[in-house]
Amino acid sequence: ASALPAALPTRSTAEWRALDAAHALHPFTDYKALAAEGSRIITRADGVYLWDSEGTRILDGMAGLWCVNAGYGRRELVDAAARQMTALPYYNLFFKTATPPAIELARKLVELTPAGLNHVFFTNSGSEANDTVIRMVRQYWALEDQPERRVIIGRHNGYHGSTVAATAMGGMGAMRRQGGLPLPDFEHIREPNRLRYGPDQSPEDFGRAAAGWLEEAIQAIGPGRVAAFIGEPIQGAGGLIVPPPGYWAEIQRICANHGILLIADEVICGFGRTGRWFGSQTFDIRPDIMTLAKGLSSGYLPIAAVMVGDRVSRTLIDKGGEFIHGFTYSGHPTACAVALENISILEREGLVDRVREDIGPFLMERLEGLRDHPLVGEVRGKGLMAGVELIRDKDQHSFFAPVGRVGTRCRDHCFSNNVVIRAVEDTMVMAPPLIITRDQIETMVDTLARALDRTQRDLPRLMSS
Ligand code: PMP
Repeated sequence: ASALPAALPTRSTAEWRALDAAHALHPFTDYKALAAEGSRIITRADGVYLWDSEGTRILDGMAGLWCVNAGYGRRELVDAAARQMTALPYYNLFFKTATPPAIELARKLVELTPAGLNHVFFTNSGSEANDTVIRMVRQYWALEDQPERRVIIGRHNGYHGSTVAATAMGGMGAMRRQGGLPLPDFEHIREPNRLRYGPDQSPEDFGRAAAGWLEEAIQAIGPGRVAAFIGEPIQGAGGLIVPPPGYWAEIQRICANHGILLIADEVICGFGRTGRWFGSQTFDIRPDIMTLAKGLSSGYLPIAAVMVGDRVSRTLIDKGGEFIHGFTYSGHPTACAVALENISILEREGLVDRVREDIGPFLMERLEGLRDHPLVGEVRGKGLMAGVELIRDKDQHSFFAPVGRVGTRCRDHCFSNNVVIRAVEDTMVMAPPLIITRDQIETMVDTLARALDRTQRDLPRLMSS
């Protein structure tokens, strides 16, 4: 059945590809390479499956961009949007107005997030949420009469978005080299990547050592200049880095010791991805500020949020005057209505508990079966967020160079077998919708296993070209 809206013209795949190549500048894309290969046109989706314009069914092991937590084809979300659009498609939260969906969603988010996060600032994307945090944190310290506390410390390979400021705060090397970055007052420490930086240490020792890099950075910058530390509970786009035991507790202690605000970027980890509502609960982090996006609406509409803890909100409210910041669509009522219904689906169907108790452990168990493959250096993950890192030599802990070529080949083998698995450099990454079944996980992992074999066979040619 064609699910294309009637308003769109019917075209062949070739026509779509030609038009796309002629006009669209895609995000995170090498334009020449795309023009040469053509894009795959996705026309509809249901459950964990996508269909392309040729009618091929594809298992989406990445839930879009880690976001379609409730799965595709949810009629309830369509109905929630239609109801809200009929009643009030749009109004804003500026100048002392409010709308019921934004009020209800704020209340719900306060209820779901860890204690003490009692206020919400809505934005449209994770990038905007993190940008908002930068302005809010600096405003907080200015109001606290410590305006020299401006530096925000992030981590190498941390991803916080694509706006100018979010890119500066993030730690993606190649990304930061474009566009006149970096900006001043953003510093970075190494991410807790044990395979890279501590393969011979116990996880506990490495966790302590990696958190110690924060203390070193604070001392080097000067504690009186540091405003905040930001990290993803599990680093996603930067290689699926699962924190070693004790890491977050030590980070928490160091931040508290210096009075530095702790920000958890929950854009990926939120809404059940790690088996609890938020990664902060999985890793026992008590953040002062939390950013949310993606799974908040399961990607059905763009919406994101900054959860603000009492320490910061009290200052903003009591001493702040006007916070001169916001977006036309902050708290968009239709997006809020869809987010509310999405959260209610996750609750009704017990999807978060299912990730923790059943399907998450099942995915990890199946992936563990790949550990003995000659290409596999490490299998790591939590909940429905997993990475399989490919390395050149397991005993020597030596990596492939140039980095990413082997991972990309493996990803292409998965994709040509109709399973979306992402390659972050040479780590194969999976984050499927939370509704994925055991059979679908078997298919995904079997496809990855075959792709690993094919990649292994391709190695001599790959590394010599
Ligand atoms: N933070 C994290 C941890 C992310 O993974 C992303 C997106 N991948 C963002 C922020 C940025 O979100 P958006 O793309 O919605 O701006």
